[in-house]
Amino acid sequence: MGGGPAGSTTATLLAQKGLRVLLLEKSRFPRFHIGESLMPETYWPLKRLGVLDKMKASAFPRKHSVQFVSTSGKESHPFYFSETNPHESSVTWQVLRSQFDEMLLNNAREHGVDVREEMNVEEVLFEGSQAVGVVARPRGGKTENHYAKVIVDATGLNAFLSKKLKIRNPDPRLKKVAIFAHFEGGRRDPGIDEGATLVLHTPDGEGWFWYIPLPENRVSAGIVGPPEKLFARPGQAEATLNESIEQCAGVRHRLESAKRVSEIYTTSDFSFQSTRCAGDGWVLVGDAYSFLDPIYSSGVFLALKSGELAADTIGEAFEKGDFSAGQLSRFGSTLSTGMKAIRRLIYAFYTREFHFGRFVRKFPQHRKRMIDILVGNVFTDNMSDLFESLEQMCPLPEMLPPEDKKISAVEVRRNQAS
Ligand SMILES: Cc1cc2nc3c(=O)[nH]c(=O)nc-3n(C[C@H](O)[C@H](O)[C@H](O)COP(=O)(O)OP(=O)(O)OC[C@H]3O[C@@H](n4cnc5c(N)ncnc54)[C@H](O)[C@@H]3O)c2cc1C
Repeated sequence: MGGGPAGSTTATLLAQKGLRVLLLEKSRFPRFHIGESLMPETYWPLKRLGVLDKMKASAFPRKHSVQFVSTSGKESHPFYFSETNPHESSVTWQVLRSQFDEMLLNNAREHGVDVREEMNVEEVLFEGSQAVGVVARPRGGKTENHYAKVIVDATGLNAFLSKKLKIRNPDPRLKKVAIFAHFEGGRRDPGIDEGATLVLHTPDGEGWFWYIPLPENRVSAGIVGPPEKLFARPGQAEATLNESIEQCAGVRHRLESAKRVSEIYTTSDFSFQSTRCAGDGWVLVGDAYSFLDPIYSSGVFLALKSGELAADTIGEAFEKGDFSAGQLSRFGSTLSTGMKAIRRLIYAFYTREFHFGRFVRKFPQHRKRMIDILVGNVFTDNMSDLFESLEQMCPLPEMLPPEDKKISAVEVRRNQAS
């Protein structure tokens, strides 16, 4: 269910294993999507998917670094990803998601996945606690039932199944919304910094801007902040975005001779986490499992990574003939460990005390591990040393509660019905 980066990755890797895969996507590609800046570790799943050559041949700007600008306008040194890893994987891309997602979906087709667009999944069918199929409706047509051993929910922020099963918890500390648009003619830094992502705090410290160079002289710029602030005036998103740009010198001077070339988009950007990544016969990947605040551009990487981990676990399930929650959730602890590191650094970002430049000046021994998180290298060893030092600088809240117990057939029935 869903043909974004998480769905097409899971599907392609399962097809590579020789399994029969049906992918149902609600919209017709290419379609607009936000989430344009990649993390360097995306390289490895892209390699497994067999699309690295297409990425290298693309016009997507190369991203060598990320740079943070404080509330007072003070710029950190760029964090160059090659500093910790001189391999070509340390250079990544800023992508137009319409093109990137379509490339991944077509790649799934080329690997033998039966991709059907304009097919909206309306229901997941259960026998007891076991998911056995879906009901889908083609645009303008009659519903169809499709049956499968494993149902993968990759429906993004729609989070179809976790909402139905009521296992999706918003993170009360990260209730944010976003307003954004594309511009033409925004200023870019020269040389190696031309494709860098900029993250700029708003002067009041309550929100931040992203500034992401895209192909053809475009930039994506948007603001993330609390809903009470950004959505205070219903229907006034454009005025709020314009005023916020005016107030943030770093964005204002970069966009002063630029022209807006897209509509203004808004989204509620609440972080959330599902209490489980799988049940009997079903698996959650990408945003459908968990959505993290986009401050570190981790979403697409986590979509690909969770798709990869899920595909390997599902492949193993077919080898064993075991489609239980126990087998299908085997990738969950690896995924949560990596996501936990990113989530904690997000919590730090939203405290008044934390600032990247200040942190690495005070704890230079952690600069490398800090870059590791920004790169996405979070699935290896634990980072307790770094977080102990971080807690000396800013308060870090407790994490969301751990995985829930298995969902029973009775709960599946009750939650789906209500
Ligand atoms: C404001 C903002 C800024 C962001 N910036 C970044 C960034 O810079 N870098 C980054 O990496 N990430 C960023 N992200 C996150 C990124 O957009 C997501 O993490 C990423 O798109 C997740 O991929 P996905 O495949 O899980 O979901 P999606 O890409 O959303 O794909 C889900 C697909 O499922 C389909 N679908 C939904 N419901 C159904 C249904 N019932 N039946 C069939 N199909 C269905 C949808 O049409 C869609 O194509 C940002 C997010 C936001 C909100």
